[in-house]
Amino acid sequence: MNTTEIIKIYKIQEIFESIQGEGKYSGYLATFIRFHGCNLSCSFCDTPQGKNDYKELSLWSLRQVIKKADQLYVLTGGEPLLQVDTELLENLYTNCRKIVIETNGTIKSKFNLERFQNCLWITCSPKNKEIDSSLIPFIDEYKILVDKDTKKEEIESYINTLKMVSLQPIIDHVWDSENLERAVELVSTNYRNGNAHLSLQIHKIIGVK
Ligand code: SF4
Repeated sequence: MNTTEIIKIYKIQEIFESIQGEGKYSGYLATFIRFHGCNLSCSFCDTPQGKNDYKELSLWSLRQVIKKADQLYVLTGGEPLLQVDTELLENLYTNCRKIVIETNGTIKSKFNLERFQNCLWITCSPKNKEIDSSLIPFIDEYKILVDKDTKKEEIESYINTLKMVSLQPIIDHVWDSENLERAVELVSTNYRNGNAHLSLQIHKIIGVK
């Protein structure tokens, strides 16, 4: 144990293993690390930042939890880019297949994106805020929440990036068929260039966290 491993503290809401339900790695077993805290306060947020049930874990403590996990990692939040840094990524990188970071895209990363590019999969879920310009070239996937009123024009700019675009119908405990229908319509009738696909939060379908 070195000094950095003791001094480095991360605010973690929870760590758990489950099936990744969204996006490119949907269906894969993953270790989720949910970071506490966000720079935004969206009305629909399902991890409200007022919820103070987080733990402060040192890098060393975190290593004890994650060291056996030789699989996919999903760093989520809150906003993970407020806390994810070089030291943490260096530890996760060992033997891992892939590290997915789910971000709102508004934060400049604390680490060198180019250095970790090969092991990262960055999913940006835009929130009507400017996306950090240094992050844009490294974004692999845009996750767009779709409701029945989502218009083609609203998502055109993401489609035009030619990055993967996950169109995810908003569901509130039960399937909302109108939102689902709209997402299916957007994928099947408008976007035949191959980068848009339907993302269905399969963890909710199969009833896991
Ligand atoms: S960006 Fe995400 S985590 Fe942050 S407040 Fe909005 S929905 Fe919640």
